[in-house]
Amino acid sequence: MGDLDSAHATISQRTKSALLGMSAKDIASLLPDYPKFCGAQIYGFLAEGKDFDEMTSLKKELRAYLKENYVANPVTILRTFEGKGGTKKYLFMLTDGNLIEGVYMPHDYGNTLCLSTQVGCRMGCTFCASGLDGLVRNLTAGEMLGQVIAVNRECGGSVKERKVNKLVLMGSGEPFDNYDNVLAFLDAVSEEKGINIGERNISLSTSGLCDKIVKFADSGHKVTLSISLHSPFDEGRSALMPVNKAYGIDRLIESAKYYFEKTGRRVIFEYTLISGKNDTDECARRLAKITSGFPSHVNLIRLNEVKENDYRAPSVEAATEFLAKLQKLGVSATIRKSLGGDIEGACGQLRRRYLEGD
Ligand code: SAH
Ligand code: SF4
Repeated sequence: MGDLDSAHATISQRTKSALLGMSAKDIASLLPDYPKFCGAQIYGFLAEGKDFDEMTSLKKELRAYLKENYVANPVTILRTFEGKGGTKKYLFMLTDGNLIEGVYMPHDYGNTLCLSTQVGCRMGCTFCASGLDGLVRNLTAGEMLGQVIAVNRECGGSVKERKVNKLVLMGSGEPFDNYDNVLAFLDAVSEEKGINIGERNISLSTSGLCDKIVKFADSGHKVTLSISLHSPFDEGRSALMPVNKAYGIDRLIESAKYYFEKTGRRVIFEYTLISGKNDTDECARRLAKITSGFPSHVNLIRLNEVKENDYRAPSVEAATEFLAKLQKLGVSATIRKSLGGDIEGACGQLRRRYLEGD
């Protein structure tokens, strides 16, 4: 099937609900005429990424019934782009035709999938492609899980021998703007009988919704929290990230400390280097000051240039110099390679290019 055919086939499924994301018990309750164990059986097949036709140990009539009324995985891989070192970027289609993207990065210490939590984003960060058209909608927990299951299968993995072992919620969307579904996803993805990726292997990146950081710290979940900081000064940060006008940096740092105190996890500060905007000596000094006093780490990343704005990335040398300054000031910091930057740029850019027909 071509892209368009499969797109239309997918869209025709839009009225059907997806089974992936439901518990075995919930699935069983949809099938009162079948023995209870069918729920667990179907749950297991779904976790392997199987479609109904492949669930051959189910009765034929049950498979036909499921096919008629439900979708197995609400996420379909529409395109795969291969990059350097085994990196793959995925364009996914949802059952209503919406597009999201993800990046797969194989590492010695585990293969990581960067996944999306929303279609678009409403936080309006001025350097980011995901937010350019605002928020389209939240993803369901099943649609987040669907990305993991689809990629694990596409890479030749199974539930027993996973090819995806680490997750970062860093694709399009602000996870804490979709708080309840993200928490339901964290529960579903770490379910013992499912794909079972534990929270110590999951990172969540937020633009800094402070009330949600505190709520999350109190929730008992213990993922690695990344906070997109991008400037240590309120004026500079508000210019890059409108969300800063609502909370401010002092409150953000307080929330980060609270997260550490509650979970014992050091907090990661994401810092995208933008030439002339946040890479001055003054920025390095202030950044060192505000991130000291509790266990944290600064992840520097050179901007992925987006054609829709004029921000520029500093040179590799300038970024390395900024890193050295931070380290001299006692900050634990590293430069992170961009996520799939050699493929289609930062998250959000792939979807845009596809929608623009490039
Ligand atoms: N909304 C969340 C998670 C998704 S964005 C957040 O903002 O944290 C994931 C990371 O990519 C964030 O740190 C974000 O600031 C960064 N990012 C977005 N656009 C970028 C770009 N063009 N270049 C480099 N990093 C970018
Ligand atoms: Fe949304 Fe994160 Fe992009 Fe900001 S950086 S617009 S919060 S996806």
